[in-house]
Amino acid sequence: ILEARNVTRKFGGLVANNNMNLQVKAGEILALIGPNGAGKSTMFNQLSGVDTPTSGEVLFLGQPVAGKDSRQIARMGMSRTFQHVKLLPTMSVLENVAIGTHLRGGKGVLSAAWRLDRTEEARLLKEAARQIERVGLGEFMHAEAGSLALGQQRILEIARALCADPCLLLLDEPAAGLRHKEKQALADLLRKLRAEGLATLIVEHDMDFVMNLVDRVVVMEFGQKIAEGLPDEVQQNPAVLEAYLGGVE
Ligand code: ADP
Ligand code: MG
Repeated sequence: ILEARNVTRKFGGLVANNNMNLQVKAGEILALIGPNGAGKSTMFNQLSGVDTPTSGEVLFLGQPVAGKDSRQIARMGMSRTFQHVKLLPTMSVLENVAIGTHLRGGKGVLSAAWRLDRTEEARLLKEAARQIERVGLGEFMHAEAGSLALGQQRILEIARALCADPCLLLLDEPAAGLRHKEKQALADLLRKLRAEGLATLIVEHDMDFVMNLVDRVVVMEFGQKIAEGLPDEVQQNPAVLEAYLGGVE
């Protein structure tokens, strides 16, 4: 459902992504891993349409992502979270997730916030509540978002992304900074969403987190793809071991 074809992204003289090719298939979890500075987040931005490749193209459901704004892309069924959690800490979990739902409405965010009619507001809150239950945060629906543990805040972000009813979820380092138990809870949720038919692309630095979770792995180093395959294969690939052990981690 998502395909990068010969994607190159240069920043001045620096080639952050060099002729990258990858595919995400319907219903699978694909991990894009690599050491710090490998070009993962840059690639994530090309895939999600936040940035445009210097050359090459990204197709989502067969259509070019370039030239579409974030709302159009969301409406096509691609939804993303952000590497650094952006929550409104004094607002409730429900309100925070409902803000994600606003983005799905046809109106702009501000006009939506300023002049929602009651029916529309009720619809948004209902959808948000449904996604909060889906990700297992039902008991925290009315708690302040800022009172949640970091792992729960990450999951809240996923609930927000799910409000756009995506067929593809893009996550940039969802496990960063989480405790072991929180990582397990996150992995369990991503498995559940996969069982429900959702495809996910995870950009991740932490190899251990992805290895027992994902279907396939693409490994980057210095802007290029250095390996691709099943988790077990990739884990034993000498170039991958070298990239991780030899890197400045
Ligand atoms: P990763 O996510 O794998 O750690 P990034 O994609 O963030 O790697 O960065 C890859 C390289 O591209 C780094 O050398 C980084 O400094 C550079 N880079 C990323 N974004 C920009 C930008 N907007 N302008 C200039 N250089 C950038
Ligand atoms: Mg990054």
